[in-house]
Amino acid sequence: MKTDLRALYASGISKASLDGLTCSKCNSSTQVEMHHVRKMADLNPKLTEVDRLMISARRKQIPLCRPCHMETHRLATLNKRNRNRTK
Ligand SMILES: [Zn+2]
Repeated sequence: MKTDLRALYASGISKASLDGLTCSKCNSSTQVEMHHVRKMADLNPKLTEVDRLMISARRKQIPLCRPCHMETHRLATLNKRNRNRTK
């Protein structure tokens, strides 16, 4: 039997919507996904807005809409590159 990962992913998203989750950053209720916090050691000293939200909420994951989620990962990647360059 073949598992349809895309269907599972879609059902996860719709479940989040049914639970009334909204983006922690912009309050959007569309395409809300869970952003997972990695080890604290991985966090850049120069925290993003989302990082601060997660720390203040003391949660391991927070709901973010897709655009904010993408932006968060983009910023994290940029921060990591900058940090490596200065070493
Ligand atoms: Zn958002």
